[in-house]
Amino acid sequence: MIDGKTTVKWPQSIIVSEVGPRDGLQNEKFFLTIDQKVELIEQIALTGAKIIEVGSFVHPKAIPQMADTDEVVRKIKRIDGVEYRALVLNLKGLQRAEAAGLKKAKITVSASRAHSLSNANKTPEEAVRGLAECAEYAAKHGMTLSGAIATAFGCSLQGRVSLEEVLSVISCFQEIGVNELSLSDTTGMANPKQVYEYSLSVKERFPKITWNLHFHNTRGMGLANVMAGMLAGIERFDSCFAGLGGCPFAPGASGNIATEDVIHMCHEMGIKTGYDLDAVIEVGRSVQRMIGHEASSAVLKAGKSSDIVKTDCGNTNK
Ligand code: ZN
Repeated sequence: MIDGKTTVKWPQSIIVSEVGPRDGLQNEKFFLTIDQKVELIEQIALTGAKIIEVGSFVHPKAIPQMADTDEVVRKIKRIDGVEYRALVLNLKGLQRAEAAGLKKAKITVSASRAHSLSNANKTPEEAVRGLAECAEYAAKHGMTLSGAIATAFGCSLQGRVSLEEVLSVISCFQEIGVNELSLSDTTGMANPKQVYEYSLSVKERFPKITWNLHFHNTRGMGLANVMAGMLAGIERFDSCFAGLGGCPFAPGASGNIATEDVIHMCHEMGIKTGYDLDAVIEVGRSVQRMIGHEASSAVLKAGKSSDIVKTDCGNTNK
């Protein structure tokens, strides 16, 4: 209950990772060329992004949109201070990431038993332990691994995913030495109360892990979930240019939260992100031009709130 005395603690700043080149483009029917991807990633780095997920190293038959990640990574002109990372599913993917010159890779496991068994024929715990060879390889080759826990809040095969299931997967990640983890709402089923509770619990149980949240706006709860995460003290979030994307393995999942929308919301609230919002909006427009259709970003459709105030079009504030 709000009693009028409670002070809400917002973060002063947050880190927003741009996952569009991977999570956004992997679900598009229209394939971008290598040069278009390179151009986009270089453009994103100039908007103030500090972490960019540039693609994935997975089997080209599984996700043909990502088949050229090796070449994309080799071609991009990198900026100092920006972390370029890719998603990998196994040692082979990690070796490709290393050969392309990346120092950071993200491994992913589903917290949903049903999803993990049907996808990988392994329990989530077995799946994480199976990635121990990746952790060893990364350590040997001067790479850092982060982990993503997919379907951390809900799964279209099993329904709700319990906090206990998530905690069990986190323990396994910690066992293999991964200390940066993302709870990912792959299917867009998370709600703000659940996000708040899960975030508080994981932070309390695993204080040494750096936490990140990843939301899809499938059911319109994406930004509310970001707020819930911030209130629980999480300061890292993923988002995707223009609000593209989804997971090809999770039926019905679509639309990451849009980078423009997250950055706009934070700046309106006085929370720093390090991004230049106008430049972010330009990237969103470029993406829409490249893929040939509008995506789900609210700010790309409506413009910034501050634009409306400036144009003073009469009834706006009534
Ligand atoms: Zn995702």
